[in-house]
This record gives sequence, structure tokens and C-alpha cells, in this order.
Amino acid sequence: MRSYSLIAPAKINLYLEIIGDRPDGYHELAMVLQSISLADQIDIRPIEIDTIFVQCDSAAVPNDNTNLAYRAAALMAQQFPEAMAQYGGVEITIKKRIPVAAGLAGGSTDAAAVLVGLDLLWQLGLTQGELEDLAAQIGSDVPFCIKGGTALATGRGEVLSPLVNLDNLYVVLAKYRSLAISTPWAYKTYRTQFGDTYVREAEDLQSRRQRVHSGGMVSAIMQRDGAKIGQLLHNDLEKVALPEHPEVLKLREAFASQNVLGTMMSGSGPTVFALTESERQALEVAETVRKQLANPDLDFWTAKLSSTGITLA
Ligand code: ATP
Repeated sequence: MRSYSLIAPAKINLYLEIIGDRPDGYHELAMVLQSISLADQIDIRPIEIDTIFVQCDSAAVPNDNTNLAYRAAALMAQQFPEAMAQYGGVEITIKKRIPVAAGLAGGSTDAAAVLVGLDLLWQLGLTQGELEDLAAQIGSDVPFCIKGGTALATGRGEVLSPLVNLDNLYVVLAKYRSLAISTPWAYKTYRTQFGDTYVREAEDLQSRRQRVHSGGMVSAIMQRDGAKIGQLLHNDLEKVALPEHPEVLKLREAFASQNVLGTMMSGSGPTVFALTESERQALEVAETVRKQLANPDLDFWTAKLSSTGITLA
């Protein structure tokens, strides 16, 4: 039986608006999610014994059943016990390239790759919709990671509308190695500080969703207008993360002073990214800001915006 190697891209948020609370305890969100070429590699190999093994070359990632890749495999084994009985267990090897706990959906994309890989290995022939439904059981960002590209995500992030391909744009990213921001902390703090602005009526919720659908960012994306997209980058979670972490604000300001289309924190942070029109510009900005801040704790990456989610390596 063959093994599969999959490419699992990171995502950035071009837009993140917190609309309100949901009855299930999650937040109601409106986001634009964007895949980038910075990616992990996931190898899935069948093994004789009926077990799931996960290993990762990064010490920051757990190798046990809390790994999101493990959770994806366990969900598949539970949903398709006859496939596991027929094909045996799996060994999942993660080559980590996406920084961990960075707001780049690193764990979510690994989980998405395992769903796609086991669908192939076990010859299940699942549809995109079926894969996305399984993905939503693992985490809010996992459904997007399967197909990737550029998408408007509403609900808790799992209701997806594809937008157009933005792979003419590039991105420079930076993160303090020793700084992690917990996603639950960011949302909880936002609720404490801004909960009184939440939409409470179903009617208002509908009109807020509509406003994002017909709003500036979506139309800038549909026109593939990099300059406008750069100006309209938005992330509500910056309101809690930046006052708490002034060094992230400093990084954002350093990017903003360069030749970039726009800059923003991704997701719950602490990664900050800036959009550029070319790869050369992205590399130049990384070099200039690296020298300017001269902080050995800062890591930089450059990438291209990508139109794909999980693909075979
Ligand atoms: P998101 O943007 O979806 O909020 P994130 O990029 O902030 O996610 P992850 O890199 O997914 O964060 O890591 C969050 C936590 O999940 C880490 O502290 C890590 O220990 C744990 N984790 C579990 N599985 C994985 C995995 N496969 N890759 C990375 N982290 C994982």
C-alpha cells in the first residue's frame, strides 16, 4: 500500500471582525482567510498495527493525542472503522515549517492534511463537503485549510464562500520566537472589553454579515486591487493583543514605515505580516526591519499568497 506526502499551507487573516456571541459558546465571526506558500509537510504511512502514531520535528508540538493531526486521524478511525480494520494503522510525520502558536493555523492545516491523506489512503472518495463537515468537528479553521485559497468565512469560521485568486501578491511575516498568544485568552479578553458592542438580535446579525459581504474588503479582493486590500486589512483582536504586547505594536509600526501595501497581526497573533507587490520587496522589507529592530528573538519569513489548500507533495 502506498504512502502519501501532503503540503499543508499556513493561513493569514486579511480581515477579522468579531460580531457577537453564539449559543454554542464560540464567537460569531466574519473573516477573510488567505492561504500562503509557507507550509508544513505531512507524510502518512500505513503500518501493520491498528494504531495512530504522530511524530513532529518541532519540540513545541506534542506527539500525543492532543496533536490536532492525531485528533483528525482518530476522528477518521471513529467514522470509518471498517477502513481502519481493512488498511491497518497509520504513522503521521509532520515536518514543521509553520511557526507554532502564531495565529497561522499551523495545527489546523496539519489536521486538514490528515483528513485529505486518509481519504486517499483508505480510498473513501469523500466529497469536499463531507471533508469540510469532518474538519469542522476538529476546529473552526480546519474546513478552510482543506481547499484554502482566498475565502470569506462566517459563522465560527466554518461557513466558507470562495473569493478570487490573489497569488499575484506576496507577504513578509515576523514573530518573536519566545512570544505566544493563546487564542482562548485573546477571545475571552475581547469579550470582557468589548462584549457590550456585540450584536444580539438575529436581524442585526444578518445585516452585519451582509455588510461584510458587500463591504470594501470583499470588493477590493474581487478586483484583485492590492493597494486597496492593503489599506483595508482589519483585525479586531489587535485591540486586545497590541496594548498587552507593545513589542508586537513596535513590529507592526516598523513594517508600516516600509514600502508595503499594508500590515496587520494575523488571527490571535502574535505573527505580524505585511503585504507587498513582489517577492523582492518582501525580502527587502524583511532585511530592513530585521536590521532596524536588531532583535535576535525575531524570526522573519517571506511567502506568496496561494490559491491552494492541501495538495499532494
Ligand atoms: P490558530 O491560528 O488556528 O489559532 P495557531 O497558529 O495560533 O492556530 P497552532 O500552531 O495551531 O496555533 O498551535 C496552537 C497549539 O496547538 C500549540 O500550543 C500546540 O502545542 C498545539 N498543537 C497541537 N497540534 C499541533 C500541530 N499539529 N501543529 C502545531 N501545534 C499543535
